[in-house]
Amino acid sequence: MTNPILSDWTTPFEIAPFDTIADTDFAPALDAALQAHNAQIDAISGDPDAPSFANTVEALEAAGEQLDKVLSVFFTVAGADSNPAREELQRDFSPKLAAHFSGISSNKALFQRVADLWDRKDDLNLTDEQARVLMLTHRGFVRAGAALTGDADARMQKIKARLASLGTSFTQNLLADERAWFMPLSEDDLDGLPDFVVDAARAAGQEKGADGPVVTLSRSIIVPFLQFSPRRDLREVAYKAWTARGANGGETDNREIAAEILALREERAKLLGYDNFATYKLETEMARTPDKVRDLLMQVWEPAKARADADAETLTQLMQADGVNGPLAAWDWRYYAEKRRKAEHDLDEAALKPYLQLDRMIEAAFACASRLFGLEFAPLDVPLYHPDCRAWEVTRNGQHIAVFIGDYFARGSKRSGAWCSALRSQAKFPTVQAPVVINVCNFAKGDPALLSYDDARTLFHEFGHALHQMLSDVTYESISGTSVARDFVELPSQLYEHWLEVPEVLAEFATHADTGAPMPQDMLDKVLKAANFDQGFQTVEYVASALVDLEFHDGAAPVDPMAKQAKVLEGLGMPPAIGMRHATPHFAHVFAGDGYSSGYYSYMWSEVMDADAFAAFEEAGGAFDPDRAKALEENILSTGGSREAEDLYLAFRGRLPGVEALLKGRGLVA
Ligand SMILES: [Zn+2]
Repeated sequence: MTNPILSDWTTPFEIAPFDTIADTDFAPALDAALQAHNAQIDAISGDPDAPSFANTVEALEAAGEQLDKVLSVFFTVAGADSNPAREELQRDFSPKLAAHFSGISSNKALFQRVADLWDRKDDLNLTDEQARVLMLTHRGFVRAGAALTGDADARMQKIKARLASLGTSFTQNLLADERAWFMPLSEDDLDGLPDFVVDAARAAGQEKGADGPVVTLSRSIIVPFLQFSPRRDLREVAYKAWTARGANGGETDNREIAAEILALREERAKLLGYDNFATYKLETEMARTPDKVRDLLMQVWEPAKARADADAETLTQLMQADGVNGPLAAWDWRYYAEKRRKAEHDLDEAALKPYLQLDRMIEAAFACASRLFGLEFAPLDVPLYHPDCRAWEVTRNGQHIAVFIGDYFARGSKRSGAWCSALRSQAKFPTVQAPVVINVCNFAKGDPALLSYDDARTLFHEFGHALHQMLSDVTYESISGTSVARDFVELPSQLYEHWLEVPEVLAEFATHADTGAPMPQDMLDKVLKAANFDQGFQTVEYVASALVDLEFHDGAAPVDPMAKQAKVLEGLGMPPAIGMRHATPHFAHVFAGDGYSSGYYSYMWSEVMDADAFAAFEEAGGAFDPDRAKALEENILSTGGSREAEDLYLAFRGRLPGVEALLKGRGLVA
């Protein structure tokens, strides 16, 4: 019997035939696809002909088409509609895939061919895009250590293995500390907490086998507890437990692990010929150098700290009015900030919701894309992996552009959060393929389904990523769509959020579910104003973490990361009532893996760019200025990773991004 995943897909637009795929098809399909890919790699690396761009780089691009199919289908359902069988498959697949890809990146014969082409790159008559793909392929091998030989090579393998195991320990220790701690609450202790916190505390109590409600260190409980509980003594205990995760001594302490990780990262970077880990890590990013990151963060830090210091005074007054003397503490900030928020601009979420219908917000996202890029969306009836999924064909001037799938509702089988992925990425080589793109969210079901304002932003955010995939117009899949630097990839998504805030968009699409009336102006004003509430605090806690991350990796690895952290914070003049968003012993972004190490800054980097990019529209002719839209598509949305991110931005904006628009947007400057 043929495996439906590996057979030709005769569905409309060759969308994966989800209705014919059984869970038992995945494992044999993966094994066959890995084998096929290995055979292709062997054929390329063992090719008796001298290396050419076609027989090496293009051959690598074309290889693995079966693997693409298996992985795109599997990871779609494993993330959005899992079950025990799929979870078990995922546990089996992870080490197999890691071994497979590391086998390719350490294949010396293959690397030799790529290196040979790289040496002769100027004589190969490559197009700009081909030269770029060759550069990225070569760089990928070098950064993975393929050029190392002998002892250096052996040491690199050891370092990688040790780092992987340290990252796992870091995560497990953190989870263990999070699970171990909880604080029982009496019925009186629940005073002042809103229903959703009480419900969560009761549910957590049941889960922990406690007699009554408890506070746990899960972000969804601890943060609202600190925000709403009037009991200063309990807030202090909870806050201290929350910030002690990973630093409680004993077996689950992460501080020595952090030190060892930093030392090994430095050694790894040096083996590869870089001065330090930050230099290595940032080479592939838009920021490029630690100095540029530091410079940007400090431009934001100063006004954010000034705002936070001023806010601290206001909050201290509120606290004193409450009869509490002494300085404002870290466990007081959220509580008094919440009181202030209520007093200054309370936004009634319940009254807002009927204006934000899911279907109308989808229409709004589509309508903006129509006005900006001429895209049209027609519902498409195809079998998908879950009845809640909806599909549209996306066209422009009658030409097929993409298939867009929306899977919007929360369910137990879906992991939390929201994401965008491509079931198939745009490419023209080896054959022309149009993208199939999916947005997955976790919105509450309803009739009609209603969103919070945050939900609506998420919908626009993920749709921005989808546009980056759908409008992609490159030749090679490895640089298609969202295959760009990490500090550039959130630009299209965060930028698209701005169109939700365009008054004429809300006026047209934020209509009341029962009456059809548009959102009242004062509600609209409150929504927009609420977005920059307490931004001094938010910016300070984030930027402090980002700067500590950067200083850990820029220069010699600190022997004592906690001492280094303290020194960085002191140098910054960290406001005493604000903690880092993530302190070292629980900074999973940086220590659980390599993803955001020396890269935690990238959220802010992207935000600076999205604010600056949207300002370009406002400066031109408004949010729908056609020339700006054209420039955005031509230089950013269609170009994938075909050029350096900085060049793309320059081509769009005519200059590099400045922080002014972000500071204004966050309300940090007048
Ligand atoms: Zn995103």
